[in-house]
Amino acid sequence: MLTGRCHCGRNVFELDGELPSALTRCTCSFCASHGVLHAYFEPQQLRVVEATSDAVYRWNKKLVAHHFCSACGCNLYSDSPAFQRDGSWDGHTRRIGFNARILEGVVAADLPVQEIDGKNLW
Ligand SMILES: [Zn+2]
Repeated sequence: MLTGRCHCGRNVFELDGELPSALTRCTCSFCASHGVLHAYFEPQQLRVVEATSDAVYRWNKKLVAHHFCSACGCNLYSDSPAFQRDGSWDGHTRRIGFNARILEGVVAADLPVQEIDGKNLW
């Protein structure tokens, strides 16, 4: 099990399972501006322990809920359609892109990273 918390600790999460073999860096304008490295999980793997300052930002087609801490500003996770690498989506399956930089005991910058071409896909 993994634990993630924002800088101020108002938002705390547990994730069942292991880190994926690679993190994902999305090149879309939102992700690039935050420098987030996402670890992907199934929605049922995410357990919200505490979320007293959880705010949501949506843009463009509004399909992705980008959760962030309204107190300390950390990105938390993105609740997103499970887009394929070509940008297609089956219309219902969702995915959690958890901000690997707030996982405890994980140095996200040291892990393998794959890139997804969000800049051109959405
Ligand atoms: Zn916070």
